[in-house]
Order: sequence, then C-alpha cells, then structure tokens
Amino acid sequence: MTSEYDVIIVGGGPAGLAAGLYTARMDLKAVLLDRGPLGGQLLNTELVEDYPGFESILGADLAVKMGDHSRKFGLEVRDFEPVKEVDLGADGTTKVVRLESGEELTSRALIMAAGGLPRYLEVPGEKEFWGRGVSYCAVCDGAFFKGQELAVIGGGDAAVEEGDFLTRYASKVYIVHRRDQFRAQPILLDRAHDNPKIEFITDAAVKSIAGDGKVRALNYERHGRPVELPVGGVFIFIGFVPNSKLLKMHVDHDEAGYLNTDRNMQTSVPGIWAVGDVRAQLTKQIATAVGDGTTAAVAASAYVTSLKDAARR
Ligand code: NAP
Repeated sequence: MTSEYDVIIVGGGPAGLAAGLYTARMDLKAVLLDRGPLGGQLLNTELVEDYPGFESILGADLAVKMGDHSRKFGLEVRDFEPVKEVDLGADGTTKVVRLESGEELTSRALIMAAGGLPRYLEVPGEKEFWGRGVSYCAVCDGAFFKGQELAVIGGGDAAVEEGDFLTRYASKVYIVHRRDQFRAQPILLDRAHDNPKIEFITDAAVKSIAGDGKVRALNYERHGRPVELPVGGVFIFIGFVPNSKLLKMHVDHDEAGYLNTDRNMQTSVPGIWAVGDVRAQLTKQIATAVGDGTTAAVAASAYVTSLKDAARR
C-alpha cells in the first residue's frame, strides 16, 4: 500500500518538528517520520540553556513541547517508524520513502531532517564494551556510574558540557582531548574549569579501552608515553556522522557527508530540502535547526503549490 503526501519529513528533532509545525499550519498534507521517540539530539541533552525564551528547560521536556505543538496544527506524526531509504519514483520527481516495515510513502516534497549518529572512536575495546562502560549518551547512562571515575573523550561542546553533567554522578571526570586547543565554547570551558571534579587531559591519543566484564581503564599516549587511566566508564563525544546515506539518489554533500543547500535549504535535487544537523553549516544549535525547518517548510509549501497549480492548468 502506498500513501501519498504533499510533504514527507524524515526526522523528528527540532528541525523536523519545526518543519512539521509550519507545513501542517499551511494546510499541507504532511507526515513526520522518526525511527525513535521525538526529540532527536534534545533527548541526549540534559539542560537546554541557549534556546531563546527558555532560560533553562530539560531537553526531554522541550522535545515533548515541540511534538505537542506540531500535532496541534494537525501534523501526522509517526514515531518509532524507521525509514529504510529515500528514492525518486519512475517519473524522476516523486519522492518515495520506503519504511523498514515494508510500507511505502510518496510525496511531492521531502524535508530531510534525519540528523546523524555519534562518531565512533574506532579503538580496540570500544565495540566490545559498548553498553558495559562505553557510552555515547550521558543523560541516558550517567546514573549507572554513581561514585565512579569516568573518562570523557573529545574537545567540543558536547564533551565539555556532558563531562560537566556527568559530575552529578561520578566522583571524578577526566576530559581527554587529542589537542590542547578546544572547540568548545568558552562559557562551557569556564564552567568545567570551575568544577573541582573535572580534570582535563590534553594532547592525549586514545589507544584502547580495557577491562574484563566491564570497562576498567582507558589507555592513551601522551607526548610519546603510554598511560593507563583507571576508569569505570568511557563516554565518547567526538562529533557526529550525518544520516545522509538514507538518500539513494545523488545529492550534493561536503566531504564529511553533510548535505549542501542553498539559502532556502534546497538541496541539489529539486523538491528535497535538508535541515538541521544533516545539513552542511556553521553550527548545530536548536535555534538554527528550528530556523532551517521553518525556511524549508515555507519553500516546500511554495513548491507544492506551484506543482498543484501546474497540474490544474
Ligand atoms: P565537534 O564540535 O565536532 O567536536 C568534536 C571533538 O572531538 C573535537 O574536539 C575533535 O578534536 C574530537 N575528535 C574528533 N574525532 C576524533 C577522534 N577520532 N579521536 C579523538 N578526538 C576526536 O562535535 P560535538 O562536540 O559533538 O558538537 C557537534 C555540534 O553540536 C557542534 O556544532 C556543537 O556546537 C553542537 N553542540 C552544541 C552544544 C551547546 O551549544 N550547548 C552542545 C553540544 C553540541 P579536534 O578539535 O582535534 O578536531
């Protein structure tokens, strides 16, 4: 069975939910698909303090608010509905979305808001201890490490912010970074420096994660010397790999796989827009994701209207 829509939105983080709110409000027949619960990266964030209008809100609460808000305008939301692939139909313009369930959806316009997945460190022990001391989500797993010493890998916003968050549970958090310069914002670094439970280890190249049934140590090399750091857990925040491979047709992207767009979020394929963390851009913030989604929804609406007008003529 195939269901037809004006717009299909792939991904239910802030970018997709903003696109959903606007498309539904503009009376388009729109559906939003997400492989899990709504919220995207919001669900991996404890406190959001940089989304205008909300001085401090739990990521999970903001996710619920955004979901409820877009549903209020009539958006069809299908969470826990993994997308297998996005393709073009035989006419070369219809967007075809195949779900893991075997169902197929088609639309005139498609807004790609599928975000990405954590980048893996790819060192021995990472896969072996995944779920047994290796984690990519402090909000999800932090509470399992009460009173333990932990290592956080990375030097960006996520590593520094999540490292700070983990000190609620851990007795000590080592932030282990491969350089001595950090990408993280100064405000986050200052907060971490002020936290007596955090120690920074810089110029450290992680070599392996070791343990028996669970993680016992992080092995790294610093200035040519091997070091074994005893820890009960290793949290890895070394960036993001965009979920652009769901697109089966060629769509222009940068060397890291982020989709290139014009200022209207239009990709190189007519009728496909890219928004939020899957899009090549300067920063990945909730506010920019919401802006992307809004722009794409307005552009997609104009596109769908012009196709409908042409079909009527
Ligand atoms: P990121 O900014 O890309 O930083 C990744 C960090 O991991 C960098 O320090 C990088 O080191 C390091 N790294 C990358 N590959 C590595 C490897 N193989 N081995 C060891 N280290 C490696 O990623 P992010 O921190 O996940 O943030 C992603 C985006 O989300 C950013 O745009 C960020 O601003 C945004 N974000 C914002 C907030 C906030 O505003 N509160 C919170 C979280 C995330 P090098 O520096 O040496 O390259």
